[in-house]
Parts: sequence; C-alpha cells; structure tokens
Amino acid sequence: MTSFLLASGNAHKAEEFKELFQGRLTISPAPATLPVDESGKTFAENAFLKAKAYAEAYKVPAMADDSGLVIEALPDLLGVQSARFLPELSDYKDKCRRLLELLESTEDRSAYFVCVLCFYISPDEVYFFEGRVHGVIGQGLRGEHGFGYDPVFVPTRTEQDGKSLAELPEWKNKFSHRAKAGLAALLFFKESIDKSHKKS
Ligand code: IMP
Repeated sequence: MTSFLLASGNAHKAEEFKELFQGRLTISPAPATLPVDESGKTFAENAFLKAKAYAEAYKVPAMADDSGLVIEALPDLLGVQSARFLPELSDYKDKCRRLLELLESTEDRSAYFVCVLCFYISPDEVYFFEGRVHGVIGQGLRGEHGFGYDPVFVPTRTEQDGKSLAELPEWKNKFSHRAKAGLAALLFFKESIDKSHKKS
C-alpha cells in the first residue's frame, strides 16, 4: 500500500507532500474538495474525520493531515482551531500581529507546531503519525519564507540567533512538524515501499 488520495482539494498541500515523500509514497490530489465538519477536539480526530470522508467517498485509501500552532500558556487560542483564528483577517501577517498583541502580557511564550497525518486504508486499518517542533513566539514578525504563523515562531535549535521559521526554509524542510510526521510514515510503510519498488 503506497498510493493514497490526499483528503484535501488544496493543490499546494499535494505539492508539499510530493516533495516530502520523494515518490516513495504517492499522494494524489482529490478531484474535488469535500465539505468535512472538522469538529474534533484533537488534531488526530480531525485528521481521521477528513481521511475517512475522502476514503469513503472515493473508495480508495486516503491520507489527511491536520496541523496547527499550540501556545502553551493559552492552549485554546489557536490549537485545533488555528486555521479558523480571526476569520475576518485574510492576511496571515495581520493574524500574526494580532497574536503578538494578545501575548503582550504573557510571560511564558512557549509554543509548538503539531502535524498529525492519518492514513485511512479501511475501517480496520487506520494509522496515525505525529510530528512536533517546539519553540517560542518571538517579539515581532521576521522573515519572508513559509506561510501562516512562521514569521512569529522561533524554533528551539542549537543556534541561538532568534531566527523565525520564516527565515529558515531549509531547516524547516528537514525538521518541521510536517517533515517529522512524514518521516515517521515513511519508516512505517518502508516494507510496502520496498516491495512496490522491487515489482516496478
Ligand atoms: P492546516 O494544516 O491547513 O489544517 O493548517 C492549520 C493552521 O495552522 C493554519 O492556520 C496554518 O496557517 C497553521 N499552520 C500549520 N502548519 C504551519 C506551518 O508549518 N507554518 C505556519 N503555520 C502553520
């Protein structure tokens, strides 16, 4: 089992996973976006709801991801609702600025990004992989790479230069929450991947 339908109509995400899996797992974009009620209380629940909906609708194994930013002192501010934070603001830079304002008087600025991947093969075969990257919310916006909350997130690394994820595109490709979850999935499916490569 090495081919999965991506439980999202988002072509950008399909590209991102293509890059991550380097042809070892094939993730195809879904022909259309399905309305899925992401009402789960955890990233895993939401990833499961999406993967199951697409697998049932298209009758093929599906993979979904759910991700977000957790602020340790204010876990309900973003978390599983990260994509739905301040919907009236369309520009993520504005959302980042508002987040900084909300954290002005918060001493503990620890935060982490989470990504959960759910592979739904059948009701009896469902696998989850999680990746995290820890850091702090910085004091301002830095960098132009990446997306979302990258400019305000300063990952914990050995170099203490205070660089945000938006300034570290290469580091992010290797060590992000998404990269770690993807790597765990690749290790898990290694046997199937090796078998399918032998056949071809
Ligand atoms: P989803 O993966 O589309 O569900 O994203 C959930 C939310 O978390 C969105 O608001 C993203 O902006 C944010 N998010 C998830 N991953 C990242 C990341 O790698 N960098 C910045 N923001 C992220």
